[in-house]
Amino acid sequence: MATVLTAARSKITLGEMRESGVRDLLVFCQDYRCSRNVKLSAVYVDRWPDKIRLPDLEPRFICQVCGKRGAILRGGSNATRKAIRFHDEGLGATVRGSD
Ligand SMILES: [Zn+2]
Repeated sequence: MATVLTAARSKITLGEMRESGVRDLLVFCQDYRCSRNVKLSAVYVDRWPDKIRLPDLEPRFICQVCGKRGAILRGGSNATRKAIRFHDEGLGATVRGSD
């Protein structure tokens, strides 16, 4: 039986994502009616170690349109309706959507 890594599911670690050649992360608002999102570029994502799972990071994001805490993370780089901001507790900084 083959092992399949499904990109649409977000249980993978950053290391597994990087191995597949993806280095950017997309952050989606949990509320599908809002659907705002932001790209975190590789420059940012590279600060996190390989062992971190995407769900470990999800509670740290807040949508700046609807205010919902928690987000859905996926590997990729095609953000659309940018709004989510991210409070990095390690840096004490807030990161906003950008290209
Ligand atoms: Zn939202």
